[in-house]
Amino acid sequence: MFDNSNPSNRKPLIYYIVIAAVIILLMNAFLFPTLLARQVTEVGYSDFLTWVDSGRVSQVSLDQQSDQIIFLATNEDGQEQIYKTAVFPDDGLRARLEAGGVKFSAQIPTQNNPLLSFLISWLLPIALFSLIGRVLMGQMNKRMGGMNVMNFGKSNAQIVADKETGVTFADVAGEEEAKDALKEIVDFLEHPDKYAGIGAKLPKGALLVGPPGTGKTLLAKAVAGEAKVPFFSISGSEFVEMFVGMGAAKVRDLFKQANEKAPCIVFIDEIDTIGKKRDSGAGIGGNDEREQTLNQLLTEMDGFDGKKGVVILAATNRPESLDPALLRPGRFDRRIPVELPDLAGREAILNVHAKAVKLGSQINMTEIARATSGASGAELANIVNEAALRAVRMGRSEVLQEDLMESVETVIAGYQRKNAVLSEMEKKIVSYHEIGHALVAAMQSHSAPVTKITIIPRTSGALGYTMQVDEGDHYLMSREELLSKLTTLTGGQAAEQLIFGSITTGASNDIEKATKLARGMITRYGMSEFGMVALETVNGQYLGQDTSLACSPAYAEKIDDQVVALVGQARQKADQILRENEAKLHELAKYLLAKETITGEEFMQILGQ
Ligand code: ADP
Ligand code: MG
Ligand code: ZN
Repeated sequence: MFDNSNPSNRKPLIYYIVIAAVIILLMNAFLFPTLLARQVTEVGYSDFLTWVDSGRVSQVSLDQQSDQIIFLATNEDGQEQIYKTAVFPDDGLRARLEAGGVKFSAQIPTQNNPLLSFLISWLLPIALFSLIGRVLMGQMNKRMGGMNVMNFGKSNAQIVADKETGVTFADVAGEEEAKDALKEIVDFLEHPDKYAGIGAKLPKGALLVGPPGTGKTLLAKAVAGEAKVPFFSISGSEFVEMFVGMGAAKVRDLFKQANEKAPCIVFIDEIDTIGKKRDSGAGIGGNDEREQTLNQLLTEMDGFDGKKGVVILAATNRPESLDPALLRPGRFDRRIPVELPDLAGREAILNVHAKAVKLGSQINMTEIARATSGASGAELANIVNEAALRAVRMGRSEVLQEDLMESVETVIAGYQRKNAVLSEMEKKIVSYHEIGHALVAAMQSHSAPVTKITIIPRTSGALGYTMQVDEGDHYLMSREELLSKLTTLTGGQAAEQLIFGSITTGASNDIEKATKLARGMITRYGMSEFGMVALETVNGQYLGQDTSLACSPAYAEKIDDQVVALVGQARQKADQILRENEAKLHELAKYLLAKETITGEEFMQILGQ
């Protein structure tokens, strides 16, 4: 929350206080006395006597402290003025004053209006201090991200209450199961009486669970949009505050507002940020704030009246990390999976987003959907937008199929690197490497067909890229398919070795993927001599490539041996395939080197000759 980018702006408080104190002291010492005191002129004692005699003096007093005579007399211009003179031992002074008719007991004020002097010497500094204080506070607030320091107890949650989210279920493509589950909630929000009449209680909360970018936020908004109720949205990370207790205050405030606006939707995004399991051994005191916030959330959920029509939706991509207390009945007891879209889903999502752009007549969305297996809704939306941007760059007024195809690669494999300079030799090596993959894939019966091979570098760092696309969507992969995939991955380096007699660093990504795949086959899929034993467990259901060992160190060693053996076998098979097809390898690599990009059809044509 603190802006650390400009440290010179961050002088300590004491700095300002010292400056203010110095200013006020200086004012008191120099400015105020001269401002406040009337001018007093000093004259000689003899002059004083002469003026008394001539009747110019009207009033005289003795200032005991300074031992001076202060007197009032008319000056040359005929105006009264204050004068002073040193006291001189003079026994006849009293008689002389009486003779001149001078009042001599009265005190002559050397100061102006007492009210004014009070104002200046007391109120002005106070006003000054509070002004400085205000400025300081303002600066502090700015640094604390707009938090009001004086309002510790009150929430400043950025609660977004959109009267109309404007999103409907029609904007969410695919995800039919999730939509069906949410339609009941929409109905409840529209006709609460129907449910109250029969005595049915709808779940207070539903948890949308799925990988990032699958449309969880979009679905929550659509529920509010369909039911035409306000939508309160807050992200779990916004609850985590600098001060202990602030997060809990935000929760309280959120539910107070929601209760006032019922019926409505409260959407808590990234709920895992606050909803993590409590007491997960993270150390003492470290999680106080988060736990307080979570406890407050649980309390509020239990406390509010479900019949009023406040429905809480939450989203997470790590359901396994949530505190079980959140999932108990009466809380988020409904879990709605929001999965990555399948082939039909992807096409539908592409079409939803394509409505916003101007398409040419020769568009085949099925082809795009085919090429984007595993992409999320957010990535598909991005592909359509990238295609539109590319069309503009090319000076066209509509999006063509090639724009879409190109942006599939930009989004999925990184942007084309226009000015990467590869030497001829490097290009040659990359060509053979990529054709190696493609050829090994084509020569095995269980691998997906090659659709595109390119040696145009990507910003992702890849110098070449062989795209393989499955005919349909796969949820299950057989051992044979995995093995041929593994062999295909080793094909790149196998080709380098065969043709150039040495290998390059170009295969690092292949190696990583192959290792992971082989490991998974052994430790998780039961496809090795160990049989159906889970030797590793996956940590994150959705985010998780993350695995941890679940076996003894002795087994860990054996697993490593098996991984090495499995990848080694695959590599041998690739070597063999390439040796048997060396002529084709040369022919195809030369063709690719010349054209830089070839399609699957071109590839199959040359191969089939
Ligand atoms: P999540 O909350 O699951 O991470 P979002 O709802 O924020 O994902 O999705 C981000 C964007 O991706 C949406 O605004 C939308 O443009 C697009 N999107 C994601 N899923 C879909 C879908 N099923 N249908 C249409 N658009 C989608
Ligand atoms: Mg989201
Ligand atoms: Zn490779």
